[in-house]
Amino acid sequence: MRQSQLFGATRREISQEEESINAILLTRGGYICRTAAGVTSFLPLGLRVIENIKNIVRAEMNELPATQELLMPVFQPKDIWEESGRWDDEGMKEVMYRVQDTNMGIGATHEENATDLFRKLVSSYKELPLCIYQIQTKFRKELRAKSGLLRGREFIMKDLYSFHLTEEGFQDYYEQAAAAYLRVFERCGVNAIRTKASGGIFSKRPSDEFQVINSVGEDTIYLNPAGDEAWNEEMVTGQDDPRLLEWGGGEVRPAQATEVGNIFPYGTRYTVPMHGEVTDETGQKVPVIMGAYGIGISRLMGVITELYGNVETGKIAWPTGIAPFKVHLIDLSPDGQGNPIYDQLKAAGVEVLFDDRDRRAGEKFADADLIGAPIRLIVSKRSLDAGGVEAVKAWNISPDEREIVAVSELENFIR
Ligand code: ATP
Ligand code: MG
Repeated sequence: MRQSQLFGATRREISQEEESINAILLTRGGYICRTAAGVTSFLPLGLRVIENIKNIVRAEMNELPATQELLMPVFQPKDIWEESGRWDDEGMKEVMYRVQDTNMGIGATHEENATDLFRKLVSSYKELPLCIYQIQTKFRKELRAKSGLLRGREFIMKDLYSFHLTEEGFQDYYEQAAAAYLRVFERCGVNAIRTKASGGIFSKRPSDEFQVINSVGEDTIYLNPAGDEAWNEEMVTGQDDPRLLEWGGGEVRPAQATEVGNIFPYGTRYTVPMHGEVTDETGQKVPVIMGAYGIGISRLMGVITELYGNVETGKIAWPTGIAPFKVHLIDLSPDGQGNPIYDQLKAAGVEVLFDDRDRRAGEKFADADLIGAPIRLIVSKRSLDAGGVEAVKAWNISPDEREIVAVSELENFIR
């Protein structure tokens, strides 16, 4: 992609309303543009980051047994929500938007729709287990829509629903999903801690959250001494709660964190009232065991920015798999000598952003800091005289770490 044609230029001045690291840096970098509180446009650069996160999530979800992607509707008819008892539920009324003139809700979550699909299309235990997921925009009446992508009224979520014949089958899948979640977050460069939590307004049973410690985290969690397990504050009575003491002494630390994912065991919470049933081996109709598994895709982008972004230096050092471009080729040469190099990299299938703009070097570098590609290549008269292109790894942009790479060696260097 030629930077001269990239829609959504970097901005020096942004609205005073933005205060979180992710909102400031992503707005300045031309990744997102705020439409209203909690309502955001993803510009081409931001969409690339979202797609990278989605692809990591997809790759891990597709490895889970009996798991497939589909797409459910945003419109949610009142009748299925009445069947589950959530249309008139006070907690849900505070969350779900409703469209007066159609008797529909706007999807805040999809248990009802998933259970409805299940009962329409599955009838025998032989078709189990069945696990379906989607990546979709969700809508919620968030009163405190703030902190950029961390809490939107409209946001992108991956939601998965599992259907098993037996509790054992379900438990086994639940643990596999939890392990897949940890891999997703690791690949996204964040350390997510599995945290025991209440099921919130969606479930009576305890759930597992995946929490990332950061300074603007809205949740308080209590970490075990090893720092790899936690309880959400809402579940414990304080630092000396007997459940924390079960960890066998050692220091229990409170920390501020943001939930990036959540997995819920539902039992038959939805499948009894909505008749999500199959016939078992004896020909009896039985309700199936259900679970739900969410990941906040857009929130994850915000959390990654909180961790890898720096407002003072104006840099986002994206983890490799997340950066919008793998390579940023910056042309400082007098006669556009970067052009054939760009063509060469493009032909080799490298994800490259080419700064072909007629701007001062300082301005180009400041923009490159916000784009945060893992590899930066600078073409200048000096580099060409020295035999090639100056290559810099973004996480180490001190001048003495630069090296000259011959143009013929560039693909190897990038690999
Ligand atoms: P929270 O407690 O932060 O409101 P939640 O428990 O309501 O989250 P879930 O219903 O479990 O969230 O949704 C699954 C995932 O979607 C969450 O783990 C989170 O990453 C993301 N998410 C939830 N609400 C929002 C929101 N308003 N904006 C962005 N992401 C969200
Ligand atoms: Mg919520």
